[in-house]
Amino acid sequence: MASYTPVHHADVVIVGGGPAGLVTALSLLRAAPELADRVVVLEKGRYPREKYCAGALGGRGDAILADLDARPDVPGVDVRGMSFVCGAGEREEKLDETIGRVVRRVEFDAALALIAERRGVRVVDGAKVTSVDDDGSAATAHAADGRSWRARVLVGADGVGSSVRKAVGLGPGLLRAQVLEVDTEPTELDGERDVLRFCAFDRALPGYTWDFPTIVDGRALVCRGIYHLKRGDERVDLENKLGAQLAKHGQDIRQVKNKRFAERGFEPATTLARGRMLLVGEAAGIDPITGEGIAQAIEYGAMCGEHVARALRRQAVLGDWTRRVRLSRLGIDLAVRTRLATYFFGPLRPRVESLVLDSPVALRAGCRHFGGLPARAGEIARVLAEAAVRARPAH
Ligand SMILES: Cc1cc2nc3c(=O)[nH]c(=O)nc-3n(C[C@H](O)[C@H](O)[C@H](O)COP(=O)(O)OP(=O)(O)OC[C@H]3O[C@@H](n4cnc5c(N)ncnc54)[C@H](O)[C@@H]3O)c2cc1C
Repeated sequence: MASYTPVHHADVVIVGGGPAGLVTALSLLRAAPELADRVVVLEKGRYPREKYCAGALGGRGDAILADLDARPDVPGVDVRGMSFVCGAGEREEKLDETIGRVVRRVEFDAALALIAERRGVRVVDGAKVTSVDDDGSAATAHAADGRSWRARVLVGADGVGSSVRKAVGLGPGLLRAQVLEVDTEPTELDGERDVLRFCAFDRALPGYTWDFPTIVDGRALVCRGIYHLKRGDERVDLENKLGAQLAKHGQDIRQVKNKRFAERGFEPATTLARGRMLLVGEAAGIDPITGEGIAQAIEYGAMCGEHVARALRRQAVLGDWTRRVRLSRLGIDLAVRTRLATYFFGPLRPRVESLVLDSPVALRAGCRHFGGLPARAGEIARVLAEAAVRARPAH
């Protein structure tokens, strides 16, 4: 007897229920409210589900959520500044305004999924997509339990291990990072709790370590981690390097839960659409220099929802998605960061370090950018002028 595998129908199927997928759905429904109940998000985990992430959400991302009236109200730590430490010194800058917050993704994503569901998005958790296909007239996502969803458009928001990305014909990408994080008690070395701390002591490491204030189950802790942008297949003993940082706080890395995951940086030449399938968020690529990706995922989602709504009304071409991203503020910002990663993690690193340490405005401009605060022309001009001086060949 032939087995029966149910096929569900929708207008848009989104694979992945992280910030990129959920914001795509929210933005789509705002642009096309008639699609309520016709937009499906398939999430392999069950909310509230953990996502390894330090949770530093730039104000840029929160502003987009507020604009969608979808800002999750979850426990968090407000952030006003950043500090940068390297072998040559340290600099800390704080603004009067809040530039972001540190959230726990287990809470944040579940709250966002609930908001989406209340707006009319069909959020199906526990649905692990194992393959997708596009027969020209529709795209279909097939789940491990035999269910399938067929739709006019399929959005891949399934993160770093994206199966939709494979179906689009792309490899994992060249800018891959490995990341390890732990949550520990704060110590007296940690300083004020409204600052994100970045440490780039080790010039041999294309990456950095971080100490971010966080709240876990009501407890004020510090998320410490290490980011390593890989060149090819080389592996670094992250546990050992992060362990050395923890040891400065008198902490033992073997006593805390190690959370390891990968990230994917944005490559400007990558094609982000094929047929009826589009990629967003980390499935497409995020900032390779810091690994910041939450605000970027939100920005991708907001733009993608609008793009798909317009395409379904035949006011835009679905396949123009790559071009749309490249020409957007997000695409230009990511392309600049990708270029900066080659400088910072290359031979120009000492000069970039000295720029951040010596310039009275570079780190402040970084804080404003993270916070989505209006850029100050004078500040930007000064940073560019200082960078140009440092870029001159040494005699
Ligand atoms: C250790 C670590 C620390 C980080 N810290 C920060 C930080 O402090 N600030 C910051 O901005 N960024 C940080 N990032 C990056 C950030 O977590 C990601 O860039 C961001 O979550 C990307 O959002 P997304 O929605 O594209 O993907 P994700 O958040 O990864 O969401 C993808 C979703 O798809 C689901 N999924 C995957 N495969 C399938 C499938 N086959 N079927 C169905 N569902 C599927 C997953 O379960 C997940 O819910 C960090 C990353 C790591 C690894």
